[in-house]
Amino acid sequence: MSKRALITGITGQDGSYLAEHLLEQGYQVWGLIRGQANPRKSRVSRLVSELSFVEGDLMDQSSLCSAVDKVQPDEIYNLGAISFVPMSWQQPELVTEINGMGVLRMLEAIRMVSGLNGSRSDGGRQIRFYQASSSEMFGKVAETPQRETTIFRPRSPYGVAKTYGHFITRNYRESFGMYAVSGMLFNHESPRRGAEFVTRKISLAVARIKLGYQDKLSLGNLDAVRDWGFAGDYVRAMHLMLQQDEPGDYVIGTGEMHSVRDAVRIAFEHVGLNWEDYVSIDPSLVRPAEVEILCADAERARDRLGWEPTVDFPELMRMMVDSDLRQASREREYGDLLLAGSW
Ligand code: NDP
Ligand code: GDP
Repeated sequence: MSKRALITGITGQDGSYLAEHLLEQGYQVWGLIRGQANPRKSRVSRLVSELSFVEGDLMDQSSLCSAVDKVQPDEIYNLGAISFVPMSWQQPELVTEINGMGVLRMLEAIRMVSGLNGSRSDGGRQIRFYQASSSEMFGKVAETPQRETTIFRPRSPYGVAKTYGHFITRNYRESFGMYAVSGMLFNHESPRRGAEFVTRKISLAVARIKLGYQDKLSLGNLDAVRDWGFAGDYVRAMHLMLQQDEPGDYVIGTGEMHSVRDAVRIAFEHVGLNWEDYVSIDPSLVRPAEVEILCADAERARDRLGWEPTVDFPELMRMMVDSDLRQASREREYGDLLLAGSW
């Protein structure tokens, strides 16, 4: 019988790529969806047609219990979160509730539905749990590159909430013998990335500027350095983490560092423009506390999971610009307004 997976955050960037990957592996895939009228449901349904949906919210314990009970999954991927870091200074309590307490609620739902260690009472398989941890937990980094043993010094309410989610996942593994793991994923992007994140903000702006819809691009800290990879590669790592004999946490990233300035330069060069003619700095976009540099040491994932990224950063930026050029041209053809992120 095929395995069943339940994905929270199904309407997000990673949810859709993971669903596609699991369907290719022969899984039955269920997505947890918030609210009956969630407009992003039809978007992901268009993209991944064989999905089933179950209602639930990471803010609501009983809905998570009902969802787990209904789906009876073999694997749960907890990708649901408020994922945009600046939002966590505007709504810190909400971000802590969803990104931190939401993890605890999902672990408790597994225990309530399946018993202490996630095993079904009928002797069926244990429910395996994946938590979407983040490189933001490393924050003001103690060493570069960052690996599984690097200490956490989070710099935002987002990072603090993710750190709680990380430790409570580990705690449930150690306390109850659950197969519960965290992927410490570094930034990963794609044409499906939210328009508020810097890579997509850049690729959309470059497409619009090239087609004459926009004149300028305002950015914050151009010196910030990230280890950016392709989301399609990173969801393979999530799946691999749940297929091991022993549960464990893994750092996932490319090991390559690029600045925001590099991202801008590559994107503008791709359409034959000089970025310095278009980009200005808006101090209001600089964060109250910045994570200056992130770079992954993913050796453990390479050795134990056999995981490798396949798309490098310049290729990724070009892929995103090309996709946004196609989208912007289509919208021009139909006379529509350009809808950011309408993949
Ligand atoms: P997105 O922002 O694209 O998606 C977030 C998802 O979370 C959406 O589907 C959203 O659903 C859902 N969600 C928000 N609030 C709730 C809630 N209360 N209950 C249930 N679902 C909710 O994120 P990504 O796909 O990029 O990231 C996936 C996960 O990985 C997130 O947890 C993120 O923090 C983490 N991560 C991401 C990295 C990256 O670079 N992309 C790096 C490291 C970690 P809705 O449609 O209802 O709003
Ligand atoms: P994050 O690393 O998860 O916060 O992902 P983002 O894509 O939001 O930000 C990556 C880096 O780009 C951070 O260091 C930001 O400070 C920097 N950055 C510079 N200008 C901007 C901007 O206009 N928007 C965003 N989102 N980030 C910017």
